Amino acid sequence: MQAPVQPDWAGRLARLQSALSAHSVDALVLSSPQSIRYVTGFAGSAGLVVIAADRAILITDGRYETVVRQELSAGRLGPVTLERVARRYDLALGEVVVRLGLGRVGFEAGHVTVATLGAWGRASGQTVWVATERLVEGMRLLKDDGEIAIMRKGARMISEVACQLGGIVKRGKTERAVAGEIERALERVGFSAPAFPTIVASGPNSALPHAHPTDRALAPNDLVVLDFGGVIDGYCLDLTRMAAVGAPSERGMALFTAVRAAHEAAIRAIRPGMLTSDVDAAARSVLETYGFGEAFVHSTGHGLGLDVHEAPRLGRPDPDAPETVEAGMVFTIEPGAYLEGIGGVRLEDDVFVVATGCEVLTTAPLDLLVV
Ligand code: ZN
Ligand code: ZN
Repeated sequence: MQAPVQPDWAGRLARLQSALSAHSVDALVLSSPQSIRYVTGFAGSAGLVVIAADRAILITDGRYETVVRQELSAGRLGPVTLERVARRYDLALGEVVVRLGLGRVGFEAGHVTVATLGAWGRASGQTVWVATERLVEGMRLLKDDGEIAIMRKGARMISEVACQLGGIVKRGKTERAVAGEIERALERVGFSAPAFPTIVASGPNSALPHAHPTDRALAPNDLVVLDFGGVIDGYCLDLTRMAAVGAPSERGMALFTAVRAAHEAAIRAIRPGMLTSDVDAAARSVLETYGFGEAFVHSTGHGLGLDVHEAPRLGRPDPDAPETVEAGMVFTIEPGAYLEGIGGVRLEDDVFVVATGCEVLTTAPLDLLVV
């Protein structure tokens, strides 16, 4: 059997090290589990990584020590040295920072609480802590070949689950039962976990974009939103399909037709170099044409990767933080329209941006599943 290709941890680490001086810091501390996994391969639930110009130190506790040593010697982690926490993470971090003589140290502002930063400050003497934003997230925006290979495989798997919905969604079953069966199907096709709690929203509940499954049984004339995701090798896939119990009402069918047209328009519009907000505008203008502009209450999509919601955001224009579509991005396209008391429709696929447009990774038919 061919050995799996390892992520380029050394390359990612080197890119961060070369960015240190531009941020006027001697080192950077990573605390977000996704950042740590991306840069070192360590997937434990607790750990810190100190990246200095000439080395990277993984600080973790006794629960992970043996595994980390084994993974290091097997080449399944990036080039880090291990530092074990004797008592507390803040004290272990403080010791490393003081020992290496690091004067200015960056931290991930989006992931460190005020309380944690206070503890780090007390443990690290004269060190100045400098907030940094999106250093690793910026690198994660563009997926490399290895990441794309994983996400392509995951997209095939989640499409397979979508194709099984005809056997799962039945009138009389509760939303909760349907969600449970979808999660078992995710496991059967090989996902390690759901990427988020599965959404099954029927009838009036379908008008709530983030409804949780209830004990409501699927009834005639319901629209049913089925939104589910899976994790493979740390990477998230995310897909939404629609079912109807018997023939949908005229209004329900109009919603479906409009959302499908908006979904297709957004996918057709995608080109590197455009603003992400223009992808949103492509979907939104179609819904407006159909008279459902007000019913589209969320963004058109979000980035996918180690997090199920990551950069970029494909929503209304944000003059303070405009984002550009770039080849290598993976994001969802998921317009929706929701009418209180009547129902809602959302259709979601995962796309990979290429030079000429995009490749739709998820391939399950978009058709309304009538059960
Ligand atoms: Zn989703
Ligand atoms: Zn989504």
